[in-house]
Amino acid sequence: APTKARKPDWLRVKLPVGPAYANVRRLVDEHKLHTICESGNCPNMGECWGAGTATFMILGNICTRSCSFCAVATGRPSELDLDEPRRVAEAIQLMGVKHAVLTSVNRDELKDRGASVWYETVVQTKQLSPATTIETLIPDVKANWAALDTMIAGGQEVVSHNMETVGSLYRLVRPQGKYDRSLEQIRRTKQAGKRTKSGIMLGLGETKEEMYQAMDDLVAHGLDILTLGQYLQPTKRHIEVAEFIHPDLFAHYREEGLRRGLKYVESGPLVRSSYHAERHVNVPI
Ligand code: SF4
Ligand code: SF4
Repeated sequence: APTKARKPDWLRVKLPVGPAYANVRRLVDEHKLHTICESGNCPNMGECWGAGTATFMILGNICTRSCSFCAVATGRPSELDLDEPRRVAEAIQLMGVKHAVLTSVNRDELKDRGASVWYETVVQTKQLSPATTIETLIPDVKANWAALDTMIAGGQEVVSHNMETVGSLYRLVRPQGKYDRSLEQIRRTKQAGKRTKSGIMLGLGETKEEMYQAMDDLVAHGLDILTLGQYLQPTKRHIEVAEFIHPDLFAHYREEGLRRGLKYVESGPLVRSSYHAERHVNVPI
């Protein structure tokens, strides 16, 4: 069965080492920050951290949701850390980050879904680092559209929200999410004049037809930029890889996405939603 197979060669990556990596490591630790790079056990840490790029996860490191692919812990989150925006902004300044990617856990228990902390983090980052561009990879606001408006109002250049998978796999992969609701969130983000971006993980059992459908749905809801990457199982307790997708099929999906009207598609086995994110600020939309 493909799930028991070893990883194909195209998924082997270099271990993170070097002074730039060590510097990011130190700043992240000193500022008590969480990164999705580490919690997601991302295969690109050597490359990204070596280049001074990291994806900061705000609103704590405990999530109210339990997506079957995700290595972030599920539970009752701790109190809101109102000093977190300052520490994130300071770390980004000290790292000299040119393009910052921010994401968060889901805080479904909060009335505003954490929107005020999101807003503060973006605003304070822009204050300390005016030349730094920002992508915010925001969670499902569960149709709290006022929270969405606050989350995207801080002046960030890119607003992403990941679909993660095709519609038929939501129950299995993203049980507290809803395919149509996430599409609606993207539509509203576009309507607010933002540059929109989303990501889908491949190798969870999706069919080609379902992928074409997802891309058509995304185009119809105003999506500009799409990332497609191979799902990798973070631990044995997470959902198994159904299939290792060949690089040629990734290339095919890229062509299909562009043909169907997406403005930019980043597609390949090691692509993550924040991979090459600095390029997505300037692609023509
Ligand atoms: Fe971190 Fe994203 Fe780079 Fe992975 S691709 S190391 S999550 S910035
Ligand atoms: Fe992980 Fe996000 Fe799902 Fe929470 S909502 S479990 S952080 S993917």
